[in-house]
Amino acid sequence: MSRTREQRAIDRTKATLALDAPVTSVRMVSPKRAQALGKLGVASVRDLLSNYPRRYIDMSQVSTIAVARIGESCTMKVSVHEVKLKKPKPRLALTEVTVVDETGVLIITAFRQPWLADQLKAGMTVAVSGKVEFNYGFKRMTNPYIEALDDGGADFHGMIVPVHPSTGAIKAGMMRRLVQNALEETEGALDPLPVALRAKYRLMSRKDALSCIHFPHSMDEQIQARRRLAYEEVLLLELMLMQDGKRRSEGRVPAVHTVDGPHVKALSEEVPFKLTDEQLQARDDILAKMAAPETANHLLLGDVGTGKTIVSAFALAAVADSGSQALFMAPTEILARQHYANLGPLLDEAGVSNAVLTGSTSAEERATALESLADGRLDVLFGTHALLENDVVCNDCTLVVIDEQQRFGVDQRAALLAKGTCPDALYLTATPIPRSLALALFGNLSLSYIKERPHTTAPRKTFVHTLSDKGEAYDAALAACGRGEQVYVVCPLIGEKRPDAPTKGSEGQDDEDVYEFASIAIEDESDMLGGNVRAAEDEAAFLQAKVFVDYEVGIVHGKLPAAEKQEVMDRFRAGEISVLVATTVIEVGVDVPNATVMIVEDADRFGLSQLHQLRGRVGRGTLPGEMHLISGTRSETALERLSAMERTDDGFELAAYDLSLRREGDILGNRQHGASLLKLVNVIRDGGLIGAAHDDAAAILEEDPGLESDQYKALAREARVVYRSAQEVVGG
Ligand code: ADP
Ligand code: MG
Repeated sequence: MSRTREQRAIDRTKATLALDAPVTSVRMVSPKRAQALGKLGVASVRDLLSNYPRRYIDMSQVSTIAVARIGESCTMKVSVHEVKLKKPKPRLALTEVTVVDETGVLIITAFRQPWLADQLKAGMTVAVSGKVEFNYGFKRMTNPYIEALDDGGADFHGMIVPVHPSTGAIKAGMMRRLVQNALEETEGALDPLPVALRAKYRLMSRKDALSCIHFPHSMDEQIQARRRLAYEEVLLLELMLMQDGKRRSEGRVPAVHTVDGPHVKALSEEVPFKLTDEQLQARDDILAKMAAPETANHLLLGDVGTGKTIVSAFALAAVADSGSQALFMAPTEILARQHYANLGPLLDEAGVSNAVLTGSTSAEERATALESLADGRLDVLFGTHALLENDVVCNDCTLVVIDEQQRFGVDQRAALLAKGTCPDALYLTATPIPRSLALALFGNLSLSYIKERPHTTAPRKTFVHTLSDKGEAYDAALAACGRGEQVYVVCPLIGEKRPDAPTKGSEGQDDEDVYEFASIAIEDESDMLGGNVRAAEDEAAFLQAKVFVDYEVGIVHGKLPAAEKQEVMDRFRAGEISVLVATTVIEVGVDVPNATVMIVEDADRFGLSQLHQLRGRVGRGTLPGEMHLISGTRSETALERLSAMERTDDGFELAAYDLSLRREGDILGNRQHGASLLKLVNVIRDGGLIGAAHDDAAAILEEDPGLESDQYKALAREARVVYRSAQEVVGG
């Protein structure tokens, strides 16, 4: 090796290692800034480089003031004529900047950005980008993007400005500089993708891709960069999933279940309704997988209300026929108890012993359940994550069922699987994801899909109301009560803005930010804040006194003790309570067929996925359901989002429409781990790419199972580093 080649190799190693250095190693990242970055989930240099722009401001089309069309967005190179800081109201700071070019005058109004007055000086050349308005005789812009240009903007031919996720403490401009520094310091890093794969799909090098995704020269360049990095993300994930799956079953003997025994037969006779063809198909798919001598990993997909639960009961009965045991885990106490209440009696009739275990199970009941689980007398134990505790020991667990699997983290799923030697797994989920993608995304998973609800005769309608016609929603609810039916009134979390919610900077209005904090995981019962409980209580009192005077109004929220929550739900189920005021603790899976109307207050605060889940609570029986969404928002985007709920009742169609439904993290079920492992990939849009990466990963592992050859060494290292944390929790 010549001296320079040696040196180059050393440099490359250095740059590669620099990727995983703490972010403080990047120029200009002080401990204080590192702390702020931490809030964005950025701890290492690699994290900083994958803090990809959320969007771009396309300033590549440059115009002059005279030519700029009113009502259209455009970019202009102008010079600052005058800057005035105004305070029309005591708490409103407004900066008015007059700018000029050879063709005219433009007046800029910037709200809540008093620092602009310090930064902009008369005579400076700046680029401004925004929508052109016309008022009081002048062309104007409100809160445009403004960037100072060096050298009088001699080189300025338009540009594309990346907008990175940033925090109050690190503004967009600083974030760009930090990312730029990180790019420079890791420039020579090794590209983990083998050249053959890069050539096959004409992918950019890693170095170019990173540079172009952060600082593209054209929008097309950005798209190409994204394609390369997205492919890499999925390929690494696929490799990780496939290797991990293999490791888990290595050297273990999978259970072979008896699936046509007396318990399964007895259950068929006990089911109080006729299963739909799709349910029968799903049942047969699952039983076939359980009977096979390989570990089953089956995903049962079906929109809310399609009747997944009863299908899973057959798997439970097969376990009893096989003389082993099953654990059935649900994400909330209410849901776990509901499954026990609904399936329990059916299983009893079929001779399958069962019990339930949650955080609020009494010590005595708990001891009994655990004892019969350990000595093998108990066939099925329903429960919440309480099932994961150490003293929950099975005699012989051969099946775990996880309801609403997307609500659990990989670690929780792994912990439940560890309750058996090599149990089969059945996952139930309502997260819409097309068949081909599910197969690709989950590696070795098999899958059944239920599309039709059992009651095609019970239609469901959704209405959006403004505050002024809120009365219509109450009328509909009162009419339902009059018919002896029941009503949900759902209140969201109120008021509290997340302390680290992104502040609106010079980038203009950004609805995304608003939605980001509106769709926090409110289903977590512990998320309930005191103020919100009060709001729900006030609402209940108001409804009882003013609206549902003749009917009983009950309330359930996360701060109620479990026993009380259970009591309220039982009374609602029994029809003693007509109107249930609830926070989103009812979101997941609650099943009261007589409840036909749901009113959602401040509906714009929910993501569409949550609203759709909520909607699944009504129209579950033979009676038609109605959902009334009430919103005081004046944002057109928010109203447009809500009206999508009116237009379609199909979860999958909504998913195609709404980002909140497309969180890849939800589909992989690692919400608990904060950021999704996949940052760039969109499972709806990137179907082709996912399929390709899946096939490539399979081929690579076929060729080199340990990823030990020179060609794949870098890839193996990368997969290890990127998925290190995930692997640790999976126990890989
Ligand atoms: P999900 O798929 O959302 O979990 P559930 O399993 O809770 O849905 O089922 C929704 C409702 O439909 C329940 O009340 C269930 O008893 C009922 N159901 C399920 N299958 C049928 C069927 N084939 N005929 C009639 N009702 C059914
Ligand atoms: Mg369910």
